[in-house]
Amino acid sequence: MRDIFRLLRLVKPLWKRILAGIVVLIIVDWIQIIIPRILKAAVDSLASGVFTKSLIYYAGLILFLAVIIAFFRFWWRFFVIGASRIVERNLREDFYRHLIEMDPPFFMKRKIGDLMAHATNDIDAIRMALGIGMIASVDAVFLSIASLTMMVKIRWQLTLYALIPTPPLTFITYYLGKKVHHHFEKQQEGFSLLTEKVREFITGIRIIKGYNQEKGAVNSFQKTNIEYYSRVIKLMKFMSLFDPSLWLFASMSMGMVLWFGSYDAIAGRITLGDFVAFFNYLDLMIWPMIAFGWVVNIFQRGSASFKRVERIMKEKPVIPKEGRKGGLKGNIVLKNLTFSYNGSPALKDINMEFLQGRQTAIVGLTGSGKSTLVNLILRFYPSKGIYIDGIPLEEIHPDAVRNLIGIVPQETFLFSETIRENIGFGIEEPDMEKIEWAARMAKIHDEIMELPDGYDTLLGEKGVNLSGGQRQRIAIARAILKNPPVLILDDALSSVDSHTEKAILENLKDYFRERNTIIISHRISAIKESDWIYVMDNGKIVEQGKHEDLLRKEGLYYLLYQRQKLEEALGGE
Ligand code: ADP
Ligand code: MG
Repeated sequence: MRDIFRLLRLVKPLWKRILAGIVVLIIVDWIQIIIPRILKAAVDSLASGVFTKSLIYYAGLILFLAVIIAFFRFWWRFFVIGASRIVERNLREDFYRHLIEMDPPFFMKRKIGDLMAHATNDIDAIRMALGIGMIASVDAVFLSIASLTMMVKIRWQLTLYALIPTPPLTFITYYLGKKVHHHFEKQQEGFSLLTEKVREFITGIRIIKGYNQEKGAVNSFQKTNIEYYSRVIKLMKFMSLFDPSLWLFASMSMGMVLWFGSYDAIAGRITLGDFVAFFNYLDLMIWPMIAFGWVVNIFQRGSASFKRVERIMKEKPVIPKEGRKGGLKGNIVLKNLTFSYNGSPALKDINMEFLQGRQTAIVGLTGSGKSTLVNLILRFYPSKGIYIDGIPLEEIHPDAVRNLIGIVPQETFLFSETIRENIGFGIEEPDMEKIEWAARMAKIHDEIMELPDGYDTLLGEKGVNLSGGQRQRIAIARAILKNPPVLILDDALSSVDSHTEKAILENLKDYFRERNTIIISHRISAIKESDWIYVMDNGKIVEQGKHEDLLRKEGLYYLLYQRQKLEEALGGE
């Protein structure tokens, strides 16, 4: 019950709308209660056997009331269902805003599918409770009390007979509703599995064909599909029980009234008009009896969903959005930095310096911890031992850190927008000249011009697909355009051929020297010219120095260099 009140608090800002809706609803209900009385008067005057003018009046009145009911039914829908849609819209927006605020560790422990389910199914359930759930409960309470009163007024003994079958009716709706809900969730779950399968197979179609695994893919799909089918059937079973049992109990009530009511009518204890009106009130009462069971389910579902959404909304980002904001130059120092994602350390006792006006490089095999280092400097994960201009990273606002740094991540990400928007990402109203300049610096301008729409070419699903190297160069242009005091390239040239790589680096030489540039690469050709080079292995710094000195040591760096020279000679990239 407390949960339901918490849920209801969501509509508090819209209470005027809701109140208006409820008032209109009660007017409609009230008119519905009047109609059987008009019928009674009409039938009673018919029973006299002569046609009177009052019959035309009754018919006209009922017609008029019907028009009013139709009119007002629109308005309670408009007010209350409309309010629930507003709550839904706001909740969805808050949820999205919250997700965007969260840090990578939050997304690491959650499946995207689950978050999507919260954003869709749960928010739908909340909307249902606040819209139709609210309406149905007010409607059921008012209609049942009003029609019961009218029935008792006609003849209380008959009312008792009519009520005998209703408690089981409410119970059955409640019970079946619960079952339907349970199996509906199972069915939805099955459906997600099914879509996930299809998504995976379509994304992996080349692998499936390359390994001749079409048959296996079909078999695996078939299994999931059959599982889904059996869940649908279970759901259908309970859903199909609904209508028949409702009808059964409703008809039992009708039967009771017909049987015992006839005695009363014949004996003259009630008039014929009363008899007809009684039937009408009974009809009005059946729906609330069904609604009680149904509403309880809807509210339970709504408040359970609300709890799930709330649990996510209550989570705070691990990295608090606070700290000093301005006045940073961008000299980065790491002191005894140790870090582990979960358990085994990915970085061990790292000491490094990245200073303004210098180009510093990090090399090492995959998995040696290079990208982890970038994640920590950008403060995607909490850590200790990073200083910017002598200030501990923990004391600087994360926004300030990210403003300071331009990053070209290892995994290039382009949005399904135009090339211009992709390069200008994160800059308010970037001008075309600057975008072109950045593209030229990244050696991608000429290739963009060859595309059908140039800079306005749409990328992604509905647009063109670029090669890995082209994508990387667009990502580099994006970072260059930002003109950041600190520039980090995390293996940003890995898909570019060595010839283009050389040209880009030559192009950017001066640009790099004007700031604090960190180049991470597994390819030595890209970083030879750096002022200082750190060699990493297994989360540790194993060597450091300038290119010539490192070669002379004949250690890991030397080995990597020899191997790459050999690959090049053999015609690799
Ligand atoms: P590099 O960039 O040098 O290839 P990474 O920094 O990506 O290396 O990885 C360093 C180590 O940390 C690897 O052992 C990797 O498996 C692990 N690692 C990277 N990212 C995560 C993560 N999100 N969760 C857990 N372990 C991770
Ligand atoms: Mg990496």
